[in-house]
Amino acid sequence: STMSHDPNCIFCKIIKGEIPSSKVYENEHVVAFLDISQVTKGHTLVIPKIHKRDIFELTPEIASNLFACVPKIANAIKKQFNVDGVNLLNNSGKVAGQTVFHYHLHILPRYGREDGFH
Ligand code: 5GP
Ligand code: ZN
Repeated sequence: STMSHDPNCIFCKIIKGEIPSSKVYENEHVVAFLDISQVTKGHTLVIPKIHKRDIFELTPEIASNLFACVPKIANAIKKQFNVDGVNLLNNSGKVAGQTVFHYHLHILPRYGREDGFH
């Protein structure tokens, strides 16, 4: 897509504050917020403010601006939820399990207990 925002996109609506989210971090390029379905406690999504569908549409600049924030966001989550580790994950494409077609990086906290809810 060449549009910077898609009025029908749920994550664009989160960026614009049109639907609520629990924001963990925000700057001029990215927003990070808690996933509505917490696979583990502190499960967070990091998204570019520009609407891009998936990894195949990201420019190096968008990818760079996004990843530059990830250590800071991971440390904020680590501190807030006392996590022991994280997995970083992106699903790009329907066949890869992508369900929301605005690029997002999952930060999945890991804990000493397997379920993450001790
Ligand atoms: P995907 O399966 O595309 O990699 O991940 C999409 C993620 O977006 C899912 O983990 C899902 O729970 C999350 N999600 C979908 N709709 C909303 C929403 O309205 N708010 C928040 N915070 N997360 C959402
Ligand atoms: Zn979008």
